[in-house]
Amino acid sequence: MTIDMTTLRQSSPAASHSNVLRQRTLKTAIGCTGVGLHSGAKVTMALLPAEPDTGIRFRRVDIAGRGAIVPASWAAVNDTRMNSCLINEDGVAVGTVEHLMSALAGMHIDNCIIEINAPEVPVMDGSAAPFLFLIECAGVVEQSAPRRAIRVLKRIAIKDGDREVSLTPSAGFSVKFEIDFASTAISRQEFSINLSRGSFKSEVSRARTFGFEQDIAMLRSHGLARGGSLDNAVVIDSTGTKVLNDDGLRYTDEFVRHKVLDAVGDLYLAGAPILGHFHGIRSGHALNNRILRELFADTSAWAYTTVAPGSAAAPFTDLPQALAANG
Ligand SMILES: [Zn+2]
Repeated sequence: MTIDMTTLRQSSPAASHSNVLRQRTLKTAIGCTGVGLHSGAKVTMALLPAEPDTGIRFRRVDIAGRGAIVPASWAAVNDTRMNSCLINEDGVAVGTVEHLMSALAGMHIDNCIIEINAPEVPVMDGSAAPFLFLIECAGVVEQSAPRRAIRVLKRIAIKDGDREVSLTPSAGFSVKFEIDFASTAISRQEFSINLSRGSFKSEVSRARTFGFEQDIAMLRSHGLARGGSLDNAVVIDSTGTKVLNDDGLRYTDEFVRHKVLDAVGDLYLAGAPILGHFHGIRSGHALNNRILRELFADTSAWAYTTVAPGSAAAPFTDLPQALAANG
């Protein structure tokens, strides 16, 4: 995505960076290994610090040349059937990016290179918490460039059957989600969080992905969900009444909180934090991507802006307090 520097300058006439939030990256590189949810294959991944205005980019270390770079951009989202999968112009893919993107959003990381040796981000425990932990272990540094956010200027909404999604102007970033499943283990759940004031880490990041016993069997027969297990997903039994995981749920409404986690990650593919209210009803990765496409298709619907520290628009206040300055 092209950065509109004209808009950025107009929205911060003071041009002093002392009164705006600045971009952030990792203090040091950090790595992990895990399995791909669908491939079941072992994956090695490393999160590396990156220069200001780099954004979030994946680099497939098992692919040679320019084609190895896959930008974490809404425009590169190509397959949303099971997860959000990015595919670059050379056809190189990185799948299941949403939980990692959610952690990067929650930790306010603007710039990061993610080296990965497979076409799928490791599923870890099915939530964003292990990625959040990695970022916290690596540490976070502020950079000299101002952080830019995307302010929603007018309401954009999509309705697709009984699924709905909308973005509405708002001072900060808030998410409301509603789900409704026939399974009595889930049934109707609703969750709202003002991420400008609430705690992404404690309220959202630990919610795991979920699936139904019979669907997992079906996916396996199609060569998918090979890495899926009770270690990385909440699984509901074939009667739809019981959670099969021995330890039960992490939150009583873990299912809808995971949908919020997914939406935060999918929306971070906008390339910057969104200042607006997101409302999803039975929405998923496909509609989460379509709402970004509709937003960016209408240039009167959004604008880049800078964010003053401590303002209502400063998203995610549950950030580590001790930040090292980095020029
Ligand atoms: Zn998910």
